Amino acid sequence: MPTYARADLVIERGEGMYLYTSDNRRLIDFAAGVAVVSLGHCHPTLVAALQRQAATLWHCSNLYRIPGQERLAARLVEASFADSVFFSNSGLEAMEAGLKLVRRYHDETGHPERWRVVVCSDAFHGRSLATIAAGGQPKHLKGFDPVVPGFDRVAYGNLNETRVAIGPETAAILVEPIQGEGGLRVPPPGYLGALRAIADEFGLLLFLDEVQTGMGRTGKLFAHEWDGVRPDIVAVAKGLGGGFPVGATLAVERVAKVMTAGSHGSTFGGNPLAMAAANATLDVMLADGFFERVRTLGTSLKREIEALGRRHPRVVAEVRGLGLMLGFKTTLENSSVAQALQDAGLLTVLAGDNVVRLVPPLIVEESHVREAMAIMDRVFAALVEKPVPAKAGSGSA
Ligand SMILES: *Cc1c(COP(=O)(O)O)cnc(C)c1O
Repeated sequence: MPTYARADLVIERGEGMYLYTSDNRRLIDFAAGVAVVSLGHCHPTLVAALQRQAATLWHCSNLYRIPGQERLAARLVEASFADSVFFSNSGLEAMEAGLKLVRRYHDETGHPERWRVVVCSDAFHGRSLATIAAGGQPKHLKGFDPVVPGFDRVAYGNLNETRVAIGPETAAILVEPIQGEGGLRVPPPGYLGALRAIADEFGLLLFLDEVQTGMGRTGKLFAHEWDGVRPDIVAVAKGLGGGFPVGATLAVERVAKVMTAGSHGSTFGGNPLAMAAANATLDVMLADGFFERVRTLGTSLKREIEALGRRHPRVVAEVRGLGLMLGFKTTLENSSVAQALQDAGLLTVLAGDNVVRLVPPLIVEESHVREAMAIMDRVFAALVEKPVPAKAGSGSA
């Protein structure tokens, strides 16, 4: 179906930081399949794990025990705030499970009247009926009425509005630690901690959408670790399988225990192939120094984009982000800038608020940063000389 404004590029092969097209062009990948391919393309550890699992067992359903699932859950629990994990296949499924958990928690603890969720402006939580309602973007909602009820929207980063939106029916506060699709918005310092305090004051759950910020993207396993906050529910997906579809909903025990056999489920969720990919991804990520490297490279990439911004003030308005979830707001049309970069061999991703995202695989090296910056420098200079006309129909998400 015509659901995407696709670039006319046929991607045939990937290796590390590079993608190769059918006409043998080499592209340096600072898009990573929209912040998914966390270890680059065809990482040998992942290839070996998937090949091994493909020759052993693909699928058996959740009617039976799956060793890879038990192992992955135990490792995620060990490395995080969580006590329990539910596996699915995508970000929206991880979000949907979290939203169901929110309602069921209050229902089981004597507050069935609490079912509404405070959400943020410019949010993105996925494309199911419930998650487009939670995201609230008009372009995602159009034509899909009636909108799933129960979401009360406040300005991202605004604690006063958050408090005012809370009523006797409020069940949870749901935010992204850094907004991805919405334009790489980093909230004011202390935001998550303050939301935790508000949630505790009113008996609400704190639900974080870490589908994009999680799995090392910001330089820690989860972005909320920067704030030292303990959430109740976290959804992850994108980077978790290194490119293999897998989502996970993590929760603390008091919340997770309201689920019983039959209360939620997924045919494919947590299948042996997905578990092999995610366990292999964790093998690499949880090794000593991995996140520290992400932070070092993130700092260096951000410094380079800032320097580029000073050289090209007519292109770069503002540099945003944390770790390797970076980007810049441009004074030109973001789609024209991304198109020009793509034509020059550098892949980036658009975001809201006229932002161009740079979300490379987490294995990026200084030499790749230099290569990308050289392309950007050249392209920005040319753009100011001869602006490229905006391409119709392109947008983020
Ligand atoms: C990508 C994304 C989702 C949706 O994930 P899908 O796998 O596309 O369903 C949800 N929330 C955030 C923050 C995302 O970036």
